[in-house]
Amino acid sequence: MAYTDRHRLFLQNFLVQRYMPQVAVEQLYDTIVQRTPQDNSTSAPLEEFLYAINRKLDPLSLELRRTQHQLTGDKVWALVNTRGDDIAQLATHYSAGKLTAFKKLVEAIMTAKDGNYCLGSTASLSLVQREGSSSMSKQLAQEFLGELVNDHWLVLSEGGHYTLAPRAILELQTYLKDEYPEWIQECHLCKDLVTMGLRCDYPDCNAILHVYCAQRYQSLQQNECPACRREWADRHTEFGAQALIPQRLRQSRLHHHMPTGTPDPDGSRLSSPSSSSPASSLR
Ligand SMILES: [Zn+2]
Ligand SMILES: [Zn+2]
Repeated sequence: MAYTDRHRLFLQNFLVQRYMPQVAVEQLYDTIVQRTPQDNSTSAPLEEFLYAINRKLDPLSLELRRTQHQLTGDKVWALVNTRGDDIAQLATHYSAGKLTAFKKLVEAIMTAKDGNYCLGSTASLSLVQREGSSSMSKQLAQEFLGELVNDHWLVLSEGGHYTLAPRAILELQTYLKDEYPEWIQECHLCKDLVTMGLRCDYPDCNAILHVYCAQRYQSLQQNECPACRREWADRHTEFGAQALIPQRLRQSRLHHHMPTGTPDPDGSRLSSPSSSSPASSLR
């Protein structure tokens, strides 16, 4: 498939955000196809179109990569630096002080006690103030935490805990594996990192799965653990940051897809007042 203006346009638009939910990617592609009728190459399926872009990006050590939001199950895309092995190379527009604070935050989240993969908002705030720079006021630290959420590195849970957002899981994968080999967990089914999910309770198994992977598997192979093949229904518990999600939001969020046009279609700000109202969270 030829590389055309459509690919260039798509990439230019994607670069502005570096991170997009699948629905937004589909919309962007449709819009570009409509606006470039002069492009007489047939409109290829989206996957093929993105594959052509990835071949162009490969020599630059960049790649469009897809994952699923661990909480909502929504598919999301990010532009990933495939050789980037340090936070400083990936989050280039933060100052040195902010980068240090971000690294310490990631460390605190990855090594959280009980494997919760999260850090309370008060602890996060004082960590940023302490590590950021001597001049970082409480307000600036708070703003920086907001910036990390807006930039899709962190998610703030409704209970007031920061945890890693899908972009961080995708882009920092190599970094996290290198820095925290004893702390990371991979999903038994898809092999991606998992920081919130479900764990098989049998002590000789303890397989960990994303919620969406477990659901997909359970709908095919009823009631068995994909690793040990024993009964699953009452023999699994919540793992990682999943345990912090309020009960009333857990099931609804897994099947929920926010309509386009809402301010936060990828659910990265779980605690914003609008997304926690009954009307939107239970849709
Ligand atoms: Zn998985
Ligand atoms: Zn098992």
